[in-house]
Amino acid sequence: MSVAHARVVGMPGLRLGIDMDGVIADFNAGWTHRYNRDFPGRDLASGHVVEWDAPVDLTHFGSMSAFWRWARTCGEGRSLFHGLEPYPGAIEALHTMHDVGHKIVILTTKPSFAVEDTHDWLVRHDVPTAEINILDDKTLVDCDVYLDDAVHNLEALVGSHPHAAVCRYVRPWNDHVAGAVDVRGWADFLEVIDDADERSGPGEAHG
Ligand SMILES: [Mg+2]
Repeated sequence: MSVAHARVVGMPGLRLGIDMDGVIADFNAGWTHRYNRDFPGRDLASGHVVEWDAPVDLTHFGSMSAFWRWARTCGEGRSLFHGLEPYPGAIEALHTMHDVGHKIVILTTKPSFAVEDTHDWLVRHDVPTAEINILDDKTLVDCDVYLDDAVHNLEALVGSHPHAAVCRYVRPWNDHVAGAVDVRGWADFLEVIDDADERSGPGEAHG
């Protein structure tokens, strides 16, 4: 991986603002699986999710607030977020970035009932981070590179952090955002980091 060769030992790393759901945690596989278990008949799959707030159209709930009421306890006595699976390769990619000196900064929006499960998830899945931000407005946290799957977050970050590399993790439920870089997997994202790292040059601090 070229990123491993681009960095010089001792150089300050980049701050990488990483989203969780839809980026490292498979939210849609998690909720469709539990929905099928609790409400048999529709046979939903994560592939059915092609828009933001898809549960409104795909389920009987009729509103996101009703969906969230179910999600509060649908995870085997915990919240939905507790039992989500990481996407294949995601945790390994985070370790690759961390091991060459970059800082993994978690930026995630969660219902208040899921805060404890979010911290638990990050520890249980060995996510290499010392900075966890659970918040609605991700522009409040300064990073060199961002990775998110939500159009509203990408637009806000492009507008507020013009010098950062804002990356859209391409998913069926998002569209291209002007000013954002489309990445289709972790190899793509590592290349963006590599480029940002080279542009930042030696001796510049990022922290
Ligand atoms: Mg997300």
